[in-house]
Amino acid sequence: MNLILLLKEDFLPFGDRVRITDRRLKHVLSVQGASRGDELAVGLLGGRIGTGTVVRLDGEALEMDVRLERDPPQKLPLTLVLSLPRPKVLRRILRTMSSLGVERIVLLNSFRVEKSYWQTPFLNEAQVKEQLVLGLEQAKDTVLPEVLLRPLFKPFVEDELPGLVRGTLPLVAHPSAAEPCPRGLTRPATLAIGPEGGFIPYEIDLLVSCGFLPVSLGERILTVEAAVPALISKLF
Ligand code: SAM
Repeated sequence: MNLILLLKEDFLPFGDRVRITDRRLKHVLSVQGASRGDELAVGLLGGRIGTGTVVRLDGEALEMDVRLERDPPQKLPLTLVLSLPRPKVLRRILRTMSSLGVERIVLLNSFRVEKSYWQTPFLNEAQVKEQLVLGLEQAKDTVLPEVLLRPLFKPFVEDELPGLVRGTLPLVAHPSAAEPCPRGLTRPATLAIGPEGGFIPYEIDLLVSCGFLPVSLGERILTVEAAVPALISKLF
């Protein structure tokens, strides 16, 4: 946790003092080892970032006087359309995407996604938010990415995706594509990433008919977990 993410309800009724009694208190006590008078990095969820001066720290509560004087880092102008990965991987990838600053995440079904993955409790709104918050705390950001769940591939690609890709460069990561993944984009992009078994030809064709360009990172086939940061760092 490189930044303590504050919620509106942490603020005491008057002034800029916050009181925290949950896992963030434990973290500040046991990992950061802070003490009274220390200045800690803080940010308001969905708002600005700044500094919190510790005025109380014990086993019951952390209280800080906070100054929120800077905007959080810019998001990447990127919509990531990700075939739903297995639940454990999903949790880690949500954190990674959040800490990398992805603006919008679409979790999509595709032919090689196991149907049981859609039943995981890790897809509950609260659990998704928990992972995204961990990513924000890691990266010193405060703005949650938007997350859309789309359990039907064809209607999503035919009806909704054309609107989402408008004004962006639509790319689909596909190991056997002839085109290399572009670098250093200066415009918004939409990037589709396949499941562990990859997209089937029908799905690639449908994405291509929606304007997507298949691009490759080379002959090494990466896990989805490795492909996500590798692709994002090439693109931006
Ligand atoms: N056998 C599958 C195939 O050939 O498509 C491998 C799928 S890979 C484990 C999962 C996803 O990560 C792929 O669908 C693709 O989106 C992305 N990926 C992995 N390695 C890649 C590479 N070298 N180039 C482009 N995308 C890659």
